[in-house]
Amino acid sequence: MDYVIAPPAVPSLPVQGSPQRFPIRRIFCIGRNYAEHAKEMGATIEPGRPMFFCKPADGVVADGGDVPYPSVTHDFHHEVEMVLALGAGGANVPAERAAALVWGVGVGLDLTRRDLQAQAKAKGHPWDAAKAFDHCAPISALRRIDGALPPAATVLSLSVNGAERQRVQLGAMLHDVPHILAALSELFELHAGDLVFTGTPSGVAPLVRGDRYHAELAGYATLDGRIV
Ligand code: MN
Repeated sequence: MDYVIAPPAVPSLPVQGSPQRFPIRRIFCIGRNYAEHAKEMGATIEPGRPMFFCKPADGVVADGGDVPYPSVTHDFHHEVEMVLALGAGGANVPAERAAALVWGVGVGLDLTRRDLQAQAKAKGHPWDAAKAFDHCAPISALRRIDGALPPAATVLSLSVNGAERQRVQLGAMLHDVPHILAALSELFELHAGDLVFTGTPSGVAPLVRGDRYHAELAGYATLDGRIV
């Protein structure tokens, strides 16, 4: 192909126990998927279709990488989340068949400019500046699971500078993985390479320069990094 400028590199993540990498197509995120987090944000849980937003594929920061403190914000928050990596896609995928789309899992941070998010909510503006900035998505190396989803008792946690900030069992999700993917696939045709952040538990809080974070999806993946 003869491009007029050099084409951008394909963003990717390492795969545990393999020299191969997982290429990233898009990053979807669900909002308000743990009741205690919705409560701490002052949001009400409405029945029906979950709320989704996106992050750019090139916002990924690898395990062990540095996250530059982002511009404009004065309230930069962590949200620890399980991340799904899809090996297959589809539109209108029924929940009963959705687990089979999941090639692997990891743990990630849905980093958020919380002050800009609050302004966007107040003005009815989009969330892009709050959620979809550069370096907004640190994600661990992926663990291949081939549809065998982590059990409900699996613990998702985050510590900052050695002190625990967030901890939950996956069973507390309001929309479980099959229903997240079923709902997402009604809105977008999903494809291999898509990643899905599955929501954060309560305990979101500010990060500052020099902070070191350690996230875990127990038994599956760990993620370490630093705010610089
Ligand atoms: Mn989130």
